[in-house]
Amino acid sequence: MPTQQKAAGEDLNLWNTVCRQFDKAAATLGFHEGLLQQIRVCNAVYYVQFPVRIGDRYEIFQGWRAEHSQHRKPTKGGIRYSEAVTQEEIMALAALMTYKCAIVDVPFGGSKGGVCFDPRKYSRRQVERITRRYTMELVRKNFIGPGTNVPAPDLGTGEQEMAWMADTYDALTPGQIDSLACVTGKPVSQGGIRGRKEATGRGVQYGIREAFKHPEDLQGCGLTPPLEGKRVAVQGFGNVGYHAAKFLAAEDGCRIVAVGDVDGGVMNPDGLDVELLMQHRTRNGSLQGFPGSSPLPGPADVLEVECDILIPAALESQITLHNAHKVRARMVAEAANGPTTPGAEGELLKRGVMILPDLYLNAGGVTVSYFEWTKNLSHIRYGRLEKRLDEVYKEKLINALEGVAHAGVPDRLRRELIHGADEVDLVNSGLEGTMQNACREIREKLLADPRLENLRTAAFAVAISKVARSYEELGVFP
Ligand code: NAD
Repeated sequence: MPTQQKAAGEDLNLWNTVCRQFDKAAATLGFHEGLLQQIRVCNAVYYVQFPVRIGDRYEIFQGWRAEHSQHRKPTKGGIRYSEAVTQEEIMALAALMTYKCAIVDVPFGGSKGGVCFDPRKYSRRQVERITRRYTMELVRKNFIGPGTNVPAPDLGTGEQEMAWMADTYDALTPGQIDSLACVTGKPVSQGGIRGRKEATGRGVQYGIREAFKHPEDLQGCGLTPPLEGKRVAVQGFGNVGYHAAKFLAAEDGCRIVAVGDVDGGVMNPDGLDVELLMQHRTRNGSLQGFPGSSPLPGPADVLEVECDILIPAALESQITLHNAHKVRARMVAEAANGPTTPGAEGELLKRGVMILPDLYLNAGGVTVSYFEWTKNLSHIRYGRLEKRLDEVYKEKLINALEGVAHAGVPDRLRRELIHGADEVDLVNSGLEGTMQNACREIREKLLADPRLENLRTAAFAVAISKVARSYEELGVFP
């Protein structure tokens, strides 16, 4: 649903929503209004219209790239391909990126970009041409570059688009040794990092795990640990939704009871097999008709399924005043950006539903993007230097222990203990530690100031405080 539309008299404009969320948290912090205004506004928006040859004609495409804050550089944020893209949506998503980066202590300012078209209606060759031309427009105005602005995947884009962007940037700015760092989320063979594709879904998993470590926080919503066995419903079976569902089912023992997508979904109270469901969707182009499931005809039906944890992982403004009273989950884990409107949030919180807010929960993507960016700048794979040395030390330690104990360690255990960390191990542990730290900061902020009332306002308060400190230190130039 386009962000400008109104449902049940509600303002669904994402920019207005983010500003309201910001203001609520800012009112508790005591910074002066000028400084808050400096943070709240979107610093720069580049709007471009460009032609691309589609078949035997030219089509004009509209694109944007917004830079919300340059208090840290480069600015960072995804590229969205969707017919619903608007300038205000892109500005709002850029603002969320600023706050997200601050929450997970990633030294970037917030940015976001988008092109208004539905990539499913174009061939891959045509999408490549649109992507390369859009990148060229960004290069022209210095809205892309390793030290200025670094895009990543978002709705409707993935590794392939990032590879095209990196290649176009490299072609237009020859000889730059760091040019691969102009974009993250690339395929591993094109300078990407292992674990980036899965990172946002992984971060969602880690964030939900953190929530289940604090039974006292869960009391109000009626859930109790463990996470194992909890019923999960997911809206959006794309990169984020698929990986979150996959990891929660395979590694935490959750039951994925429903999955919805743009053309409807499927449910099974006994649990859906996530891998088989993905194979079915790849084969048939739709979730519908998955053996052993019952259909959910509309894209929003999955939001109303009986479950413990609802993961909106598609678009903004999905849970509104129109359907909030029909949400039966006890926890809403916001994998998408802005899926819950302020009105709906009020309604859910009144009913005791716990909301894990987007600006914390989906920050796994930008966290691992940061790892990819530093990998590109250092030109070496993580773990390459120390892996073997680490293994040798551990081997010596086990041999010494065996000598003292006069007993042998079984072969399999020996191999597991000795194994040195690979790139993906380092990435996942860095991500897990980051999500844990961020969760701790947000909880502590909320516990210290009851006026914050909920996790979202506390997360905004953490973010605003960090960004404000940075602005105060920098002052205003000239
Ligand atoms: P994606 O394009 O890979 O997947 C999105 C999925 O949602 C697709 O399967 C699409 O068909 C489905 N969808 C589209 N409209 C829908 C509707 N009305 N109802 C139900 N399903 C619908 O995108 P993604 O990268 O998985 O991003 C999903 C969300 O997560 C977005 O809000 C994005 O901003 C957010 N996010 C993504 C990342 C990332 O690293 N990719 C990081 C942070 C946040």
